[in-house]
Amino acid sequence: MPTTTKRKTPAKKSVKFQKLTPPEQGTPITVVGGKIKFPNDPIIPVIEGDGIGRDIMKATRRVVDAAVHKAFGGKKRIEWFDVYAGENANEYYGEWLPDDTIKAIKHYIVALKGPLTTPVGGGFRSLNVSMRQIMNLYACVRPVKFYHGTPAPVKRPEKMDVIIFRENTEDVYAGIEWKKGTKEARQVIDFMNKRMKTKIRKDSGIGVKPISVKGTQQLVRKAIQYALDHNRPSVTLVHKGNIMKYTEGSFRDWGYAIAAKDFPRKTITEDDVWAKHGGKPPKGKVVIKDRIADSMFQQVLTRPDEYDIIATPNLNGDYLSDACAAQVGGLGMAPGANIGDYVALFEATHGTAPKYADKDMVNPGSLVLSAVMMLEYLGWEKAGELIQKALEKTIMEKIVTYDLARQMEGAQKVGTSTYADRIIYNL
Ligand code: NAP
Repeated sequence: MPTTTKRKTPAKKSVKFQKLTPPEQGTPITVVGGKIKFPNDPIIPVIEGDGIGRDIMKATRRVVDAAVHKAFGGKKRIEWFDVYAGENANEYYGEWLPDDTIKAIKHYIVALKGPLTTPVGGGFRSLNVSMRQIMNLYACVRPVKFYHGTPAPVKRPEKMDVIIFRENTEDVYAGIEWKKGTKEARQVIDFMNKRMKTKIRKDSGIGVKPISVKGTQQLVRKAIQYALDHNRPSVTLVHKGNIMKYTEGSFRDWGYAIAAKDFPRKTITEDDVWAKHGGKPPKGKVVIKDRIADSMFQQVLTRPDEYDIIATPNLNGDYLSDACAAQVGGLGMAPGANIGDYVALFEATHGTAPKYADKDMVNPGSLVLSAVMMLEYLGWEKAGELIQKALEKTIMEKIVTYDLARQMEGAQKVGTSTYADRIIYNL
């Protein structure tokens, strides 16, 4: 991850918003000569989110501010900048994802986001998917590891320590689909059946699954670079290429190809580890391996410690990250980020859980840990480590929100804000 700099941050072109007023204090993050420069007082846009977003964002900001203060004693601080998306944007702008919000995130480079509602089977398209596509945030990064004291359904949850790099802009998730019976669906079916000699039933809905060289390689490159920067031993390409040969299968082939082309001296394939090194990876090299998606779901349950960084297409990644998270405490503890070449949007993995909204009940852990990833991205690891230790201590004390309390014996169930208070107390 990039680090902070003491050099003066170069002036950044100002940006004009329709309805937003940026904070008067704080300095924008900039990119100079291909490198991100982080000031000591970055302006960070925040999307509060719908539903429980309102509960967990408040708690998270308090925890982050306290940890930054504790770690850097006033030398560093975050200048939060509230921007709108989802229900609050619809009220303020009359639209769900205003240009102002996209402009702000692109301009200030790092942002924090709560969950947003997406209607199933109709209505508008997912705001989350739109944001990822508009800003080419091609890597969805989801670390999954165990915090001691967390109730877990498996015997050895501490064996799980993976970071999933999920492709974020294509695959069946690209949103290219047509409803059964529409003109578009009929035209595609006619074209396919007449010209391509397929036998698609006429009463089908249609979805398209594009997977490109560019989309695959920018994702796999980022995953390998991460493994190298953080001394992680392997990158596993997870695909369903035995069945979907020219999409998922190609993902695997293009993944191996970019490892060989861009990191020839720093990576080695698992086949070569066995063929040339008796099964023992040479020091300093990242092993590139691949697994078929269905077998991988079994592997992460039975031999999670054999996996480390995982790179995978969009849909596999979505399923796999929740399945892994379930082993170490569930969605309430699962952080994530959407990252492009520079712009990074950190967000909880779970949704808006509307039945719990505004009840000060849910676990803010997922968003708090996403903010820890954000602090690491800023190069403020010290603050991130403080939060992780304080969170772990709070769970060990058995002072937890309802989702963890119901799985623990003798736990003291507290609300979102009291839980945040306790984390701050434990910093
Ligand atoms: P969800 O909001 O993730 O909630 C599903 C269940 O997960 C909850 O009922 C709760 O389980 C548990 N949960 C989620 N967050 C929790 C937290 N912080 N603490 C404790 N438990 C938590 O999934 P959903 O109900 O399927 O989706 C609701 C809306 O969110 C949909 O509109 C969906 O599209 C959207 N969504 C948005 C994002 C995003 O913004 N990135 C991601 C996923 C879904 P229990 O009831 O068992 O306690």
